[in-house]
Amino acid sequence: MSERFCYRCGISESEGGPLIEGLCQVCYRKENPVLLIGDEINTELCQNCGSYRKRGIWVDPKSYELEELIFEVAENALLEELEDSFSDKIREYEVLTPDELEEIDDLPVGRAVVSFEPVDFHIEHFPAIIVYEVRVKARTHELQRELHDESKRVTVYVRQTVCPRCQKFLGGYFEAILQVRAEGRPLSDEERKAIGKLVEEKVDEIMRKDRMGFIQDTIEKEEGLDFYMGSTSSARKIAQAIKERFGGTISEAYELVGMDRQTSREVYRTSVSVRIPKFRKGDIVSDRKGNVYEVEKVDGKGLTLRNLENWENEHLDWKTARREQVDTVEHEESEAMVTSVTPGEVQLMDMGNYETYELNRPPFEVSEGEVYRMVRVGRRRYFRSRK
Ligand SMILES: [Zn+2]
Ligand SMILES: [Zn+2]
Repeated sequence: MSERFCYRCGISESEGGPLIEGLCQVCYRKENPVLLIGDEINTELCQNCGSYRKRGIWVDPKSYELEELIFEVAENALLEELEDSFSDKIREYEVLTPDELEEIDDLPVGRAVVSFEPVDFHIEHFPAIIVYEVRVKARTHELQRELHDESKRVTVYVRQTVCPRCQKFLGGYFEAILQVRAEGRPLSDEERKAIGKLVEEKVDEIMRKDRMGFIQDTIEKEEGLDFYMGSTSSARKIAQAIKERFGGTISEAYELVGMDRQTSREVYRTSVSVRIPKFRKGDIVSDRKGNVYEVEKVDGKGLTLRNLENWENEHLDWKTARREQVDTVEHEESEAMVTSVTPGEVQLMDMGNYETYELNRPPFEVSEGEVYRMVRVGRRRYFRSRK
């Protein structure tokens, strides 16, 4: 039987074989390299927010510490480039550490393992430059005696840019206005503080998924707060969170603000309004039957009221509260001391003008000498709380 020879270098099959596609083992590996990545890669990160493109989509970085951030961006670009420039014969690959890769001496056909490590870098200023040593081991043919084992130095340049989101943010862009108001009164200082905190927390949460969910500006108005938001969906989510916490209603309005010159379509701005209830903890209210209550709690579900007749709590959902015509009621507040208690009556002395008056004995414990905060609605007086 006649001996075959490598058509590239002429070595005999018995010495350099088995031949693959007419080539000896060494020439086969040389003619079929797997690591086809170029010498240089250019990539960028947003100088405002640190985001960078992952497969074309801007994403927030894992780390905001500048050095870590630069390496994160550079490695992402290197890996994307590697993946795109493997030989067609590689169907799957895995990233290993250089030490792990060193240990690998066999692989199934079509599989590659890759490692990379920075061997030189200059990251004090932009463009940051990182030189990576990249090494790949792979098998592309079942007759291979040895794996492909290729190394290359690749330089990654990381430049600064401004991402599209930050271009909009820095340009003053907003898509929606979130208005927070209270029904029939201005927002109190405590409410403004609590709402401001809630909005901040909610925006942080939203921004993890919706990069346009930012607050462009917050305007303090006499009647309430206006938040200029980067996205309408963010404004809606925050309105919902405020409603869940404080109760109230949400409404939307659209305003034509102009024409998009590129698409010649009309551009609308959305106003999302959340109107929290006028009731606050401590308010004195009455219902359609004339019962008088102190508001104990207000939230998204409804009202907890304390009936001042018997000091018992009742919970009303918002629908019931409307049906029962719960509303604030005009009243006077005073303080009074219990001067005597009989089985049916209590005598009190007003601490302001020292006048005395009698009330039916309430269904809770009352003792002589105690001072009470009193509420008067019309001609009736109620015990509000022990002082
Ligand atoms: Zn050869
Ligand atoms: Zn940005």
